Amino acid sequence: MTGDAATIDRAAVLAWVHRFAAVIEEHRGELVRLDTAIGDGDHGTNMDRGMRKAVEKADALEGDDIGALLKAVGMALVSSVGGAAGPLYGTLFLQMGTATAGATTLDAAAFADALEAGLTGVQARGKAEPGDKTMVDALLPAVAALREAQSGGVAEAVDRAASAAEEGMKATIPMEARKGRASYLGPRSVDHQDPGATSSYLLLRSAAETFAGS
Ligand code: ADP
Ligand code: MG
Repeated sequence: MTGDAATIDRAAVLAWVHRFAAVIEEHRGELVRLDTAIGDGDHGTNMDRGMRKAVEKADALEGDDIGALLKAVGMALVSSVGGAAGPLYGTLFLQMGTATAGATTLDAAAFADALEAGLTGVQARGKAEPGDKTMVDALLPAVAALREAQSGGVAEAVDRAASAAEEGMKATIPMEARKGRASYLGPRSVDHQDPGATSSYLLLRSAAETFAGS
């Protein structure tokens, strides 16, 4: 596929949710290892449990409303995942759902609006700024890349966003954590990649892979 479709529909968004769940399962051990280094080691299992629940809820839903689907994913994450990341990812999806309420297709601009609304929700809830060594450090460059890439199709824009998220993820390695459990380590959090930034990169990479084929 050329990966330059102008819009994505609900089936593509559902496929993204499925792919993200599969990718999280595949990377569960790596996320646990990253969170063991600077946290309590549960990020991989938290996200895996949450996304299994999210897939269940998403599959049970009918209709063609993208917003309703994303909200269902958000609610599943909020209700099934404890810790910091469950409510934060829950907020991300809930706000993306609010931003896309009633929509049956999304173009690159609408996808950018949705992810930006999600990021705004994450920052409102978690109060993390860029550079605090959190998922925000992967999501923020992804939103910026989506904003820049709006002339092409959604698949191409999301592919750029995934690359930006990957750079943002890697940029967390030298950072000292200022939010979440990792912040308790102070300078000892340096030289480790943030687990939440890693799962956020995987979220964008899953979207890019899914939309390239839709
Ligand atoms: P917990 O820290 O409660 O064990 P997880 O291990 O599932 O939860 O998630 C840890 C990740 O959550 C971190 O790597 C970080 O990216 C993210 N995180 C923690 N606190 C915040 C916050 N206040 N804002 C944004 N992200 C945060
Ligand atoms: Mg943890």
